[in-house]
Amino acid sequence: MSVLVYTENWDGKFKKLSYELVSYASRVAEMTGGSVTALSIGDVTDDELGKLGNFGASTVLTTAGSGSFDNQLYTGIIAAAAEKVQAKVVLLSHNNSGKALAPRLSVRLKAGLVSGVITLPESVNPVVVNKKVFSGKAYAKIKVLSDTVILTLAQNSFEIIESGASTSIEAFDHGVDASVSKTIVKDVQKQTGKILLSDADVVVSGGRGMKSGENWQPIEELADVLGAATACSRPVSDEGWRPHEEHTGQTGKIIAPNLYFAFGISGAIQHLAGVSSSKVIVAVNTDKDAPIFEAADYGIVGDALKVLPEFINEIKAAKAQ
Ligand code: FAD
Repeated sequence: MSVLVYTENWDGKFKKLSYELVSYASRVAEMTGGSVTALSIGDVTDDELGKLGNFGASTVLTTAGSGSFDNQLYTGIIAAAAEKVQAKVVLLSHNNSGKALAPRLSVRLKAGLVSGVITLPESVNPVVVNKKVFSGKAYAKIKVLSDTVILTLAQNSFEIIESGASTSIEAFDHGVDASVSKTIVKDVQKQTGKILLSDADVVVSGGRGMKSGENWQPIEELADVLGAATACSRPVSDEGWRPHEEHTGQTGKIIAPNLYFAFGISGAIQHLAGVSSSKVIVAVNTDKDAPIFEAADYGIVGDALKVLPEFINEIKAAKAQ
């Protein structure tokens, strides 16, 4: 049973999620006795494409795409690749692109879709997988009866596994008419020097307890000292204190870093839905009964604005030793 993975890249390099997806796909292929083909759309060097072999892709199909992401064009390309390799399982990330592409692909390939899976399938014939539901309060076990299955994998829910194998790289002529693309890119503004929130190992996040957007300097400084990404709760981005791409939770980004700092965040269920898979959560809150302390591994009952400078000084001192 062949498994196709739609990989994603940024600035010519694969995103961490691509390695997770290929690692996951190689375990699914082991269960089915099939092989993994990774699809790469965009400008990626052969060296970078070759890295996918290390995570279990026996073949990499590469095509230039159209320079910018477009749902209709990319759906056509992924469907053409799925048909070429006769994929029975198509795997995408459960991020914004995956959420946009998977339903279209499901219609195109007449394939059952399970979004946001978090573990390997319990069985592959038929495919039975688990996913979180009700903002992470419960698990659903889903059986898919269609011939082809599409899965979107929750980010950071599956560890990257290196196999040391190599891969064969093939130029892919998808034959999809580029004029189906309805996306016109008028302007590109690139953030430089910032760590992608979805890829970050450490995330420093602030909530309404930070009182104002003016108070974000110590959050940014702590992130800088730790080589971390910054994040926030939804009200913070709704207030315009921080950009919307930093908002984590049910309606924002779902992340699972190794270390998540929550400063002045109450820990509402909708926020935890996006961060509760973090390996270690450190919370600082003035209210000892705040729900965030139930999810946290370490907690400080205190004023975030006073604790932050102390944290920064201690970490700088520890690093200087
Ligand atoms: P608050 O609830 O106002 O909490 C502030 C916290 O800071 C309190 O616990 C307080 O004790 C503490 N505090 C105050 N002063 C200090 C200080 N000086 N030092 C330390 N601590 C201090 N929210 C999200 O975050 N992400 C989502 O994706 C999301 N999706 C939602 C979807 C729906 C459908 C709905 C209805 C809500 C959603 N929300 C989401 C909102 C969510 O319910 C909460 O309202 C929100 O998470 C609260 O944000 P907060 O913790 O920053 O603010």
